[in-house]
Amino acid sequence: MVIGSDGSPLRVAIVGSGPAAFFAAEALLRARVTGVEVDMFERLPFPFGLVRYGVAPDHQKIKAVTARFTATASLPGFRFFGGVDFGTDVTLADLEAHYHQVLFATGAQSDRRLGIPGEDLPGSHAATDFVGWYNGHPDRHDDRFDLSCGRAVVVGAGNVALDVARILSLSRRELWASDAPRHVVKALCASKVREVVVLGRRGPAQAAFSVPEVKELGSLPNVSVRARADEVELDPRSADDLDAAGDAVARRRVSTLQSFAAEATRATERRIALRFLASPVEILPDERGRVGAVRVMRNRLERSESGALAAAATGEVETISTGLVVRSVGYRGVPLPGVPFDERAAVIPTARGRVLDAPGGEPLAGLYAAGWIRRGPSGVIGTNKPDAVETVKAMMEDAIAGRTWVPERPAASEALAAIRSLCPEAVAFDEWRAFDEMERRIGAAAGRPREKFVSAGEARAAVEHGGREAA
Ligand code: NAP
Repeated sequence: MVIGSDGSPLRVAIVGSGPAAFFAAEALLRARVTGVEVDMFERLPFPFGLVRYGVAPDHQKIKAVTARFTATASLPGFRFFGGVDFGTDVTLADLEAHYHQVLFATGAQSDRRLGIPGEDLPGSHAATDFVGWYNGHPDRHDDRFDLSCGRAVVVGAGNVALDVARILSLSRRELWASDAPRHVVKALCASKVREVVVLGRRGPAQAAFSVPEVKELGSLPNVSVRARADEVELDPRSADDLDAAGDAVARRRVSTLQSFAAEATRATERRIALRFLASPVEILPDERGRVGAVRVMRNRLERSESGALAAAATGEVETISTGLVVRSVGYRGVPLPGVPFDERAAVIPTARGRVLDAPGGEPLAGLYAAGWIRRGPSGVIGTNKPDAVETVKAMMEDAIAGRTWVPERPAASEALAAIRSLCPEAVAFDEWRAFDEMERRIGAAAGRPREKFVSAGEARAAVEHGGREAA
């Protein structure tokens, strides 16, 4: 029987439940082929990955994309299993017994390192950890950040660095209107941080910030955003590059950053300083052995062999005192058991979404990847759609050509029985809907978007008691 017919559906396992996973599920289930079934496996009890745990808690509009993912979950043939860890609870061999194809959409869960002395001092944190904490990520629930210093330093000139700087600067009212957990709101309200210094190693033209995100920073009511005129001035080589590339977005970014240098100083409770051409070279301890200061090298831009403008040290060093350093220099994918991994690029090696046996190698039947674990941590949520669609196209081509795994027990009921016996506590999507509703109900009672649950046990107890215990 042909795979992809009603009697013999194409059975696909998706590992991960963030944007790439859901965009892929949507493309698979809406493909003009009858009989596609998708089982989605998520390590955490609750779905949506980066949207729930990475997008900043005050960016509720961006998080609204979950409505689309929820609509996908209603399509016939979709099932969700939350709290099932690939590699521990379910192995590649387990999936091979039940599915024709597996798609990995596990994102980039780790952080890049700075590689400088003092990076691991107490008080120096990876942005992945800080972002997970303020977003109620179950792995970061028990983390504590010392916010008793007056100044924080955020390293990196990307949107995550801006998220971190903004969250550290929001007022109680703004934090309450977000879906950051209550203990996080309490800690941030008690924070003594009054100035956040963001360090970009190259110039304003090379910063990775998006224009709306930079503008948003400038519109925060109780925060003055400053830049130094000499650091945001466009050097001739950067100006040439922008002209040659016709890069209007970068031009808008530069002029927005320049406006921060031109503005008169306002007396506000909090400040954000956007610095450029500044690289941390060492994190220095204080007398207690915690972060006490950052030594920063002033850079100039030099043309590298690749043609790009790179940061080169001038030898001029300054010391910025601080008790909190957040390193926001990019995320990094982590290898999955039994799945090829390109250590250099920290991604699964692929060609058009097909997993290769090694970087530049041959495709492996049945295995696919999409999203950050395929292309690296770049782009916005929507970037994952064309990425996932391309992978699904390859999956469909292979299914039609018969290049799939041949599972021993392809019936959906058999996969369900196997998962139920391996992970009896797995969260189904209908159960998640009840949790979601309860999170929103408890949040609404306090004038908040939601109150996030940390564990399936907590969520189940709240639903059972009609929200009374959790409220
Ligand atoms: P990113 O955009 O790649 O930015 C990383 C920054 O770190 C760059 O400025 C980079 O500078 C810098 N960096 C790297 N290594 C460094 C080092 N050793 N020393 C100093 N600086 C270093 O990464 P991200 O901010 O983590 O964001 C990840 C993705 O999520 C991005 O695509 C971002 O746009 C997206 N995102 C979007 C939103 C939103 O739309 N609201 C919010 C958050 C994240 P160089 O350029 O010089 O390498």
